[in-house]
This record gives sequence, structure tokens and C-alpha cells, in this order.
Amino acid sequence: MIDEALIAGIELGGTKCIASLARGRTILRQERWPTGTPDTLELISTEVARWAGEEPIAAIGIASFGPLLLDPAHPRFGHMGRTPKPGWAGADIAGHFRQRFDLPIAIDTDVNGAALAEGHWGAAQGCDAHIYATVGTGVGLGIVVDGRPLHGRMHPEAGHMRIRRQAGDDFPGGCPSHGDCIEGLVSGPGLIARAGRPLAGVGDDDPLWRRVAMDLGEWAAMLILALSPQRFVIGGGVPQLRPGLLPMIRRHAGHLLNDYLDDLDEAAMDRLIVPPGLGSDAGPLGAVMLGRTALELQ
Ligand code: ADP
Ligand code: ZN
Repeated sequence: MIDEALIAGIELGGTKCIASLARGRTILRQERWPTGTPDTLELISTEVARWAGEEPIAAIGIASFGPLLLDPAHPRFGHMGRTPKPGWAGADIAGHFRQRFDLPIAIDTDVNGAALAEGHWGAAQGCDAHIYATVGTGVGLGIVVDGRPLHGRMHPEAGHMRIRRQAGDDFPGGCPSHGDCIEGLVSGPGLIARAGRPLAGVGDDDPLWRRVAMDLGEWAAMLILALSPQRFVIGGGVPQLRPGLLPMIRRHAGHLLNDYLDDLDEAAMDRLIVPPGLGSDAGPLGAVMLGRTALELQ
């Protein structure tokens, strides 16, 4: 039974990396490291090897920030794509673990992993189509249809979509590739650039958060129109630390959709756009879910 298998889930985030050892959805052990250079992978695999030495692990799932090369036919499958993150461009993420563990290993984006976990255990159970966004060091979107994460030519990069800007807002945005894409506007580093100070010092009543909610509301409305999700789970450090954002995002997205979609009144919006049912475990359990898929594919 897959729920009895011991699975290691490795979540690589823009700020922190978390390795978890889980049976089913129960996390038995967890370690975290700040995301440094790819040398961080060595620290993680050493810890996972220590766990495996105590009790055999059945599979490893890797849920990583992107962009990742995820076409199995690609010679660099499982490598990091182009990223400004120092040292990470081209890093062979899956290969690092394959060289050290003779186990089934699966890799996907952090958000595809979290979307799968929310579909299996969390707020998106029973959905045919749902999406999971993280708003943290970056902005990412995972899309799951009929229980499978969307890959296509690599994976969605919807965090780099440009949205309609709010009138009077001329902040140029912080994305090195696009300036004012949604990630450039509302990711942690984008927000720090906009606020001109650390976010811990920005009060919940600061007008910055209304702007963030308006921008995310624009993005949410476009995603709802494009993808028709039955659930849109919004996680990541920013909404987790600022729970007041979600109701504002819902309200603004609803206002933009303007009754165009049937059966999407205010109460339905409350059920559509939700925080992770798994709370801050959505990311770590996302990595665990990927390990389960590796085991199932055997
Ligand atoms: P990761 O991106 O590594 O997965 P998180 O999703 O936890 O990590 O997001 C971390 C982000 O949360 C950081 O980029 C940071 O800017 C942002 N953050 C930190 N403190 C606050 C705060 N008090 N309010 C809003 N955002 C914050
Ligand atoms: Zn961008």
C-alpha cells in the first residue's frame, strides 16, 4: 500500500529548501536549509541518505522552483533552465539525486507538486481541474487536470504573465526578464523594491497590500477565464503572512468578472479562491506527492 511507503519529499524554494520524510500525509521528519548555491543539494542529499540508513525509503519526490526542463525526451530532463539565481542555471537537479540514490525519483515544479497534494489531501479534493499558486520569493502556478499536472513543452510559467496595471501605478516591477509581470509586481523581492524596506516593517493596514490584492485579483480573473478551475488555491509566504489579502483578491477578481460567469456569485467566489487546505505543509507534501507518483509509475 502506497500509504505505508516511506517517501522523501524535497521542496526547493526561492528562499528555503525543505526535506520531509512522510508516510501517507504524515510528516515524520523535516529539515530546512536556506537556498544557497546548488551546493545546498549536497546538504539535502546527505540528510536524506541518513534517514534512508535508518529505515529504507521507497521513493524520492523533488518539487523545485523553475524553470525546469521536464520533457522526458529532452537530454537535459530534470535540469534547471535559465535562471538569474546564482549558480542554478543548468544545474542537474534530478541527476544529483539519481547519482546518490537507487530509488524511483520524480521531479516537477513546486507548484505542480503542491497542486497535486491539495487535490489529493487538501482544498481541491474531487476537482477535475484546479490550480495552485505560490506567492513567495517568486510567483508560480501549477495546473492539474484529471489528476495530472500540466507539462506541455515544459510547465506553465504563468507567474510571468503581464496583467493590466492599476491606474496611476508606475512601479516598473522587479522581474529581471519582464519588469512588471505579476511576479515582478507581487513576489517578495518585488514588494521589497516597491516598499523600499523589509516587509516585516510594513503594517497590515499599509496601502501596499491593497495594490497587491488588486494585481493578484487581475491575475486570478484572467486565470479563471482561461482555465475554468473548480478551485484556485493561493499559497506561499506572502498570503500566508498576510491573510487579509485573500478576501480582497476574491472581491477584486469577482468585480472584474462582473457576473459574466454563471453561478459565480460572492459565496461561490469564497469557495473558488481559497488558502491551502494543507496550510504551510502544501509545499512539503507536494514534494511527497511527487515521490508517490514515482512509486506508482514503477
Ligand atoms: P519560498 O519562496 O522559498 O518557497 P515562501 O513561499 O515562504 O518561500 O516565501 C518567502 C517570501 O515571503 C520571501 O520572499 C519574503 O519576501 C516574503 N515575506 C517575508 N516576510 C514577509 C511579511 N512579513 N509579509 C509579507 N511577505 C513576507
Ligand atoms: Zn517575469
